[in-house]
Amino acid sequence: MSTTTRTRPPAARVPAGVRTGGQFAEQARGEADVELGEMPELAGTEPDEFGFPTVLCGRCEGSGKSQYNRDAGHSRCFACNGIGRRHPRGPVADAVAAYSKARTAAARPKAWQVRAGDSVSPLYEGYGKANWGVVAKLLVARNRPTRFEGAGESRRPVAWPALLVLEDGRRLQVSTDTVLARRASEVDPAPFVAMALATD
Ligand SMILES: [Zn+2]
Repeated sequence: MSTTTRTRPPAARVPAGVRTGGQFAEQARGEADVELGEMPELAGTEPDEFGFPTVLCGRCEGSGKSQYNRDAGHSRCFACNGIGRRHPRGPVADAVAAYSKARTAAARPKAWQVRAGDSVSPLYEGYGKANWGVVAKLLVARNRPTRFEGAGESRRPVAWPALLVLEDGRRLQVSTDTVLARRASEVDPAPFVAMALATD
């Protein structure tokens, strides 16, 4: 009787690295902790004309030009509109959008929002078509509402016919809802910039 040499079963073939900390290792590999709370995108930013931080446009790398835009008849980078920089996504972009909305609202008030002394014009089509005048007063016909909201008991008037009296003597028949153009109605960007930079 000869002693049989027991050979050990061949080791299962395991991809290299599995047992020593590869992709399927049970133990997590040591990785540097990600620093939370600081937005990496805000590093190396430059303020735009209003103070909102901007980063270099990744599409054109700051040149403002794109070689992929020739079909459009120009070579302007569509990602940054040729500026070469853009606002970081997230709180900054949100604050810029809110500022833009506030500026539009200020330049296009409804009649009930204008104040004596405001320089306004009926909405116009095309450059140079405005007919500016300074508001003296707005007379509202409270007894003849033109628009209601709600139904039944909660139905209530929300718009009335109005007469916009200008200092030059013009009297424009409008509604309190009528949208006008208002000149020199700049909105202070500071609170919006503060909103963009708030870390909390
Ligand atoms: Zn660009």
